[in-house]
Amino acid sequence: MFIDSHCHLNFPEFKDDLEQALKRANDLGVQGFLTINTRLSESIDLQRIADTYPNVACTVGVHPHDAKDYDNATLKDEILGLAKHPKVVGIGETGLDYFYEHSPREPQIMSFHRHIEVASDRNLPLVIHTRDADADTIAVLDDHRDNAKGVFHCFSGTLNLCKKALDRGFYISISGIVTFKKAENVHAVAKYAPLDRLLVETDAPYLAPIPHRGKRNEPAFVVHTAEYIAELRGIPLPALAEATTANFFNLFTKTKEFFA
Ligand SMILES: [Zn+2]
Ligand SMILES: [Zn+2]
Repeated sequence: MFIDSHCHLNFPEFKDDLEQALKRANDLGVQGFLTINTRLSESIDLQRIADTYPNVACTVGVHPHDAKDYDNATLKDEILGLAKHPKVVGIGETGLDYFYEHSPREPQIMSFHRHIEVASDRNLPLVIHTRDADADTIAVLDDHRDNAKGVFHCFSGTLNLCKKALDRGFYISISGIVTFKKAENVHAVAKYAPLDRLLVETDAPYLAPIPHRGKRNEPAFVVHTAEYIAELRGIPLPALAEATTANFFNLFTKTKEFFA
């Protein structure tokens, strides 16, 4: 069994065929899905999807791209309120994106802190998005030492950042980028991270792995990513599937209550 630990099932790309996409995933053994919030206004859609499908869980959070649109004074309470839904199992995606810098750095950092506070209050894991912001990401997390757990999603950073994340108890999630020939840093990370700290994800509808590169991504394709990582590590695919699924349940413990 595989779990797609990070996808965006409410996005318009799935408007016409979500049910079929989940069925195609199921047929390949992808049986659990974590659909990720990027703007609080999406929460109602995410929670509706999670209520419809037993094996879909969701998160609450504001993507760093959108951090500038939220009031730091009320953000924490807004997230806390939305996180009461029983199928909310994590907080995010939050973090820092200095590559695109769609929001200025200051609101990104403030938003990241508020998310960590909620995650700590509710004892939920964080889903962290970080790009070209290694030092600040680690510095913010270190302000909350021992109170933050979670996953660095769609890991595309350096081996050094991976080591820092692992040292702090975080999991590393590998996306379809690992199947791209030039993604040497991701290959290195996918080989280096201990098997008990790895997750797999699609980040669908984005970043389809080879052999679907350039098309719409969907949860079924996480199998290609898993196959690639198993081969890189020289282990059988079922061993990778079993480990990454166990890791998912160890981190997102609430999913054990309702995933069939
Ligand atoms: Zn992301
Ligand atoms: Zn995402």
